[in-house]
Amino acid sequence: MDTSQARRKRTLLKVILLGDCGVGKTSLMNQYVYKKYSEHYKSTIGADFVTKELQVDDKTVTLQIWDTAGQEKFQSLGSAFYRGADCCVLVYDVNVPRTFETLNAWHDGFSKQADLNDPEAFPFVLLGNKIDLNVGHNQPVCEEKVKEWCDSRGNMPYFQTSAKENYNVEEAFSCVAKIALENEHEQDIYFPRMSETVSEAEPRSPCAC
Ligand code: GDP
Ligand code: MG
Repeated sequence: MDTSQARRKRTLLKVILLGDCGVGKTSLMNQYVYKKYSEHYKSTIGADFVTKELQVDDKTVTLQIWDTAGQEKFQSLGSAFYRGADCCVLVYDVNVPRTFETLNAWHDGFSKQADLNDPEAFPFVLLGNKIDLNVGHNQPVCEEKVKEWCDSRGNMPYFQTSAKENYNVEEAFSCVAKIALENEHEQDIYFPRMSETVSEAEPRSPCAC
């Protein structure tokens, strides 16, 4: 049997969004995946993650983006949430210093729960969201401090974003996909050929995964 024709390679990348409640994680995800923004968005209904397909160079990848759905207490997120993550996106609000200061706890908590051997080698991306509110020269969170923090955490890529104005959202998630791909757990999905499927007494479901 020519298995090379029956098999297709697919890359699924698991991405986790973390950060304090209210920083805009759900809004960023909705802007990126659905091109929608709402001031009154309720947490994801009945779903732990959403998916989006995109191209990275000439490869098609599927991002599986996990949102915390309002349970931003670290302890309340089960280990299934972290298992097999390919990238962790940390989000803070550029207008609220406290949300930047808690990043250490999110970063270290993730590293521990996901059982990372080398957190500096794991792909994290930092997003400073709600930049649309940060007008003028008033900088509640000092950019120098942010850059230093990223450097000290293994040169973490950093983007200023606005989920509201769709600023840098696409760019940020493209970077997420790219660095996640470098850390991927490639999945082989088996697609039976038509002739195989019809000749079987009980055809397997093509989407048993
Ligand atoms: P989460 O708790 O981290 O998921 O945050 P949400 O996505 O629920 O956002 C919290 C609030 O901030 C909501 O009222 C959003 O409309 C608002 N918000 C989110 N992103 C932005 C942004 O980029 N700019 C502004 N001005 N508001 C935002
Ligand atoms: Mg949310």
